[in-house]
Amino acid sequence: MALPVAGSASAFPVRRIYCVGRNYLEHIREMKESDERDPPFFFQKPRDALVLTGQTVPYPPQTNDFQFEVELVVAIGKGGRAISKEAALDHIFGYAVGFDMTRRDRQRESGKKGLPWEIGKSFDASSPCGDVHPVAQVGHINQGRIAVSVNGQSKQDSVIEKMIWHVPEIISNLSHQYDLVEGDLIYTGTPAGVAPVVPGDVLRGSVAGLSDLVITIGHGS
Ligand code: MN
Repeated sequence: MALPVAGSASAFPVRRIYCVGRNYLEHIREMKESDERDPPFFFQKPRDALVLTGQTVPYPPQTNDFQFEVELVVAIGKGGRAISKEAALDHIFGYAVGFDMTRRDRQRESGKKGLPWEIGKSFDASSPCGDVHPVAQVGHINQGRIAVSVNGQSKQDSVIEKMIWHVPEIISNLSHQYDLVEGDLIYTGTPAGVAPVVPGDVLRGSVAGLSDLVITIGHGS
């Protein structure tokens, strides 16, 4: 699986997909399920859960509450272990807009039972991601609007500055748990305003400075 690189004919081959949970205060508050002082944590999605912009995400089985989470995605260009915050930005190839698609009912249920999150987070087609914009073209994304609309109606609308843990801290923290490798993606968490979708909905995610991610929700198989 590979993502298109904006402004070029080349592609960014993806190795792993990491996601940060609980990284915007207002989203933690709307979820009403964790201590606001808890540190953010990581989970993974399978690489073949990627969906490119313009494609369709089939409505998944085993849920009646299928939700989007718009997120800034970091694409790792240089691997490393135990990376310092100060050195972290040197490891980034580029940035993209992503949706952390979630079976919210299954996620809540597994959380309450103390079970893993896979059924709620790591299912087929759960990881739409837009084109990767190289740092060489857009610089580092550390501020600006992050938003999503459904059928043209605004849903999530916030700013990157509201992240609790910023990108250098996320990279440093994650690289103390895993060896980061070129090709890894990191979804950096979502602001408030998550909501359910239904078949036929068109989702447009945006981060200032990057091209939009647009997907359609399809009927389940
Ligand atoms: Mn998320």
